[in-house]
Amino acid sequence: MPAAQASPAPAKALSEPQKALRKLGLARDIDLALHLPIRYEDETRITKLRDAHGGESVQIEGTITDNHVAFRPRRQLVVTIDDGTDTCVLRFFSFYPSQQKALAVGNRILARGELKGGLVGWQMVHPTTRAAGGDLPTALTPVYSTVAALPQAYLRKAVQAGLSRADLRETVPPEFAARLGLRSEWSLREALQFLHHPGPDTSMAALEDRSHPAWQRLKAEELLAQQLSQLQSKRERDRLRAPALPARPQGLHEQLLQALPFALTAAQRRVGEEIARDLALAVPMHRLLQGDVGSGKTVVAALAATIAIDAGWQCALMAPTEILAEQHFRKLVGWLEPLLAPHGLGVAWLTGSQKKKERDAMLQRIASGEAALVVGTHAVIQDQVQFRRLALAIIDEQHRFGVAQRLALRSKMGAESAEAGVEREPHLLMMSATPIPRTLAMSYYADLDVSTIDELPPGRTPIVTKLVADSRRDEVIERIRAQLAQGRQVYWVCPLIEESEALDLTNATATHEALSTALPGVLVGLLHSRMPPAEKKAVMSLFEGGQMGVLVSTTVIEVGVDVPNASLMVIEHAERFGLSQLHQLRGRVGRGAAASACVLLYAAGENGRLGEAARARLKAMAETADGFEIARRDLEIRGPGEFLGARQSGAPLLRFADLATDTQLLQAARDLAPVLLDRHPEWAQRHTARWLGGKSEYLKA
Ligand code: ADP
Ligand code: MG
Repeated sequence: MPAAQASPAPAKALSEPQKALRKLGLARDIDLALHLPIRYEDETRITKLRDAHGGESVQIEGTITDNHVAFRPRRQLVVTIDDGTDTCVLRFFSFYPSQQKALAVGNRILARGELKGGLVGWQMVHPTTRAAGGDLPTALTPVYSTVAALPQAYLRKAVQAGLSRADLRETVPPEFAARLGLRSEWSLREALQFLHHPGPDTSMAALEDRSHPAWQRLKAEELLAQQLSQLQSKRERDRLRAPALPARPQGLHEQLLQALPFALTAAQRRVGEEIARDLALAVPMHRLLQGDVGSGKTVVAALAATIAIDAGWQCALMAPTEILAEQHFRKLVGWLEPLLAPHGLGVAWLTGSQKKKERDAMLQRIASGEAALVVGTHAVIQDQVQFRRLALAIIDEQHRFGVAQRLALRSKMGAESAEAGVEREPHLLMMSATPIPRTLAMSYYADLDVSTIDELPPGRTPIVTKLVADSRRDEVIERIRAQLAQGRQVYWVCPLIEESEALDLTNATATHEALSTALPGVLVGLLHSRMPPAEKKAVMSLFEGGQMGVLVSTTVIEVGVDVPNASLMVIEHAERFGLSQLHQLRGRVGRGAAASACVLLYAAGENGRLGEAARARLKAMAETADGFEIARRDLEIRGPGEFLGARQSGAPLLRFADLATDTQLLQAARDLAPVLLDRHPEWAQRHTARWLGGKSEYLKA
């Protein structure tokens, strides 16, 4: 991050909500102004029960006529209110004594929530309530995405303050506004003011599907910022040089191909050639290799490494978790050591949990250049690691790395690579199993070339995917028993509970206990992200060795593990996962010859049903095994904010625009970006600074 953008040291300690604001990336006034509501609540009017329809979200006002605690089917506070036209029952499954008091018989209150009509009359489950009286607001009430430490009311004030202070002058020169589809009546200021506080008569539909002109304004500006920033980094990169690594005939590359126990698929050959072509040039490669889980990206990476090594350079491969790095290491050692040993070269291994002695030895091998390939976790980019001549950096599961880490890899070329007067950086190959439809990737990533493996190696057994309601857990356990009886192994994945690692853990621990009890005589293991690496390793090796029948885990197994004997995966609370994430998880089974299955356990909501969108998503999982198709459906159902790695990286690339529907805006932004950079660089600079702030640096990697 450039020094000018670093924030000054805080004068005094930050309060909890202030810390939470920072954590959400809401540091500057403009960040707050651009933190738009995820939805709105209409507190501007009161609906009479007589005129209401079931399923509507409404606000009602009435007098409390009954208040009691019921114990069946669950302990709950039951409050009845009468609005003069009808009565409505309010149910609270968790409540405080203070709440009970506020809802005493005779009190007059406002209650807001989803109204359910039933045979027994109107009901609301967990409505928001407050004492009646006072004026109703004149605009819709914004609801912002937040975290537990940051109450909605605090955030609303902070956003309002940010909005009033932020510099909202236009950053697109007026003569270009029309080309971007910007309408003069919706300046950025007007658009933001409107979106934070829309009037009560605004069409909710136009707000929700973001077709409203105010939304269009924001999306166009956002896309322009992304395109500008990527184009800028592309231009910077184009000035850099990298070692040219031409493939040598009869070299290590050929030898590895011959030594492999399988033939490459056509897709692997094609992407291999694309990479080899890039490596042969003296311009740094910046390529994304995407391919479905199990499509065989590792061997493509290994082949790229052989080209670099053959040309006399070193290669680094970085994976997000220790387990994954270690699997890569073992596989690559198996493939490459026999070929490297005759040349006095080898493969080195670096992780955070290594003993100092082993680590020092590895660092020595890396510095001397004897380690032609270095495999590891983040440890690979730490300061003490000095390469002799690094020419190729490969990053697996790139979305899991912060961009700062990618940038660090680029600065590790080593002393011997210095060349007078030119700036150089290694070739960069990023791998991802979260595919993005190719055309989308091409138009979005102005700064990235994309290679796609669109074919799986032959002979895979398809995985059968089933949706099962959580209430049928016993049947699932029966199924596990049957698999174990056949000598197979089972994964049980517990969901990520957002914002709460501690809860994750409680839940996984409880499941682990329940399964241990239900399956006497079976070794049931537990793996979660907070375990020390040595313990993780011990659990993994028991599972890999086959002694452990069931592995209960949080999503730490998401990437990489390869246990061909595992034939069943149960994913608990599948509705809480993203589709692509489910797809990746599912890819952990079906790696051997055995018929494999994936059970998606879902928990129904209070009303006993799974929501419409959740159902559509899970159905998509059961219907297709094609990662690209799943990515497309994910895009349709949820929009691309999540899709472009928002979930995984925590730093969404696009917050507002939707690549699936905003293709025209994207195209306009893509066309305008070079014009703006050439003719009005200072406007362009202000625009990216506003939208990306410190983050623009990150987009370059
Ligand atoms: P991913 O793309 O998910 O990283 P991997 O590289 O781990 O996939 O490959 C999955 C498995 O398929 C590995 O066991 C690998 O050795 C094997 N494999 C890769 N390419 C082929 C091929 N062309 N034919 C048969 N098996 C292959
Ligand atoms: Mg992989």
